[in-house]
Amino acid sequence: MPSYSPITPEILSEIKKAVGLDAIVRDSEKLHEFGKDAGEDTRLPELVVEATSPRQVSALLRLANRYSFPVTPRGLGTGLAGGAVPLFRGVVLSLAKMNRILSIERDNLIAVVEPGVITLDLQNAVRRKNLFYPPDPASLDTCSIGGNAATNAAGPSCVKYGTTRDYVLGLETVLPSGEIIEAGVRTRKGVVGYDLRHLLLGSEGTLGVITKLILKLIPHPKTITTLVTFFPRLTSAMDAVTTMLIRGHVPCAVEFLDDRCLEITGDLLPFEEARSAKAMLIIETDGVQGVIEKEMETIGGICMEQGAANVVMAPDSLKRARIWEIRREVSLRIEDRFPLYLHEDIVVPIGKIADLVGCLRGFEEEFGVKIFSFGHAGDGNIHVNITAQDRKRRDRADEGIVKLLKKVLSMGGTISGEHGIGIVKKPFLPMELSAESIRIQKEIKKIFDPLGILNPGKIFQTDLQKD
Ligand SMILES: Cc1cc2nc3c(=O)[nH]c(=O)nc-3n(C[C@H](O)[C@H](O)[C@H](O)COP(=O)(O)OP(=O)(O)OC[C@H]3O[C@@H](n4cnc5c(N)ncnc54)[C@H](O)[C@@H]3O)c2cc1C
Repeated sequence: MPSYSPITPEILSEIKKAVGLDAIVRDSEKLHEFGKDAGEDTRLPELVVEATSPRQVSALLRLANRYSFPVTPRGLGTGLAGGAVPLFRGVVLSLAKMNRILSIERDNLIAVVEPGVITLDLQNAVRRKNLFYPPDPASLDTCSIGGNAATNAAGPSCVKYGTTRDYVLGLETVLPSGEIIEAGVRTRKGVVGYDLRHLLLGSEGTLGVITKLILKLIPHPKTITTLVTFFPRLTSAMDAVTTMLIRGHVPCAVEFLDDRCLEITGDLLPFEEARSAKAMLIIETDGVQGVIEKEMETIGGICMEQGAANVVMAPDSLKRARIWEIRREVSLRIEDRFPLYLHEDIVVPIGKIADLVGCLRGFEEEFGVKIFSFGHAGDGNIHVNITAQDRKRRDRADEGIVKLLKKVLSMGGTISGEHGIGIVKKPFLPMELSAESIRIQKEIKKIFDPLGILNPGKIFQTDLQKD
């Protein structure tokens, strides 16, 4: 285990001088709040620094190198993989107060923002200028753009528009040494040198602290239309998804809820069918009116062809808002009901979605757990939520997870589509990546952070930079 210095009175006094008293948080309630994210793990930090400028971030990291204490960057703590949990205590560096939208440049179709901006606030701000920032994780009203960039977050719109990575043109980043660098560009293209921007994106706060982002915007789609459809079998719903995609339809959302999710949300959904169906699909298309309505008719036809019980076209705006509210809250409703709740975030190739969901009931029986599945069907990204009333089932659930991940990999899938590795999925990394790939990645970490002070203990099972 790496040995770091505790935050001694001498170090504390240096940190106070470097970042200013206003940035320091030490009261115990707050420390507890900053010791966890939305996952299961908790570790109490010794100190929280709430940065308001890159200069403070840089000064803190220089001290971390000098005195050898760990620093864990944190956006708004909605991560599900333990990425913002200070595994070796030390300092949690909160970026939440760096939350200004610095500019929205209509002519250049870019926005420049600080990392603590809430994703929905940015979407709303650009919407007022008739522009669109597509990445829309279900947590979009509570998570930060910096956290989204660090985890390469994505949401329903990914099926058409891609992930956060596709919208970050450039980054200002404070390296673990305290140096501040710009990575990327302000333009639509740029191939000068190695692509450090894409290396930093999705690196879960282990290679640098993002302090500014230049984001790509696109014109806001003119119209959006929704279709809701219910199936008597989950696998038929997934067959419908695969069929519509391979026939060339690209909706801007293809989400699903299985029957277990409908059990706990069905009474809140404005559709009678939700109480008895085995699966619900929410499909949206955006673009030019007339064209998208026609496309929706074809998609509705594909759903019926694959066995949908019925198709509800264009629910009114109140119903649409309700559907999305329920879809985004489903994990919170599961969490309320089950003391043991493990989130898996697997992805399989489009053609394998039905096979994958078809296995889940067998896993339930074999491992004595209850599985709720929902998510981004259009990406093959299935949130497999493994639950039990008794936390003692954890060991069996973990065995089930290993079996599930093996299945996913055998299908050509990946063990995490968007939540990241953090602490939670570290043990599974070697299942997907070769020893050589992991070795190279650890070497990269060492180049950025030779003393291992930035977010140690994440992604890799052993913290080699301190070995
Ligand atoms: C109800 C719910 C629904 C969710 N739905 C989705 C979803 O649909 N799609 C999805 O992708 N995720 C989803 N998530 C997970 C989570 O919201 C995302 O991972 C989000 O991007 C985390 O943002 P955050 O600001 O909360 O980051 P945090 O949780 O604070 O941090 C996440 C990681 O990013 C690092 N980090 C944060 N800010 C910075 C920074 N400025 N510089 C460097 N590193 C940084 C942290 O060290 C940590 O490793 C969901 C979570 C919840 C609770």
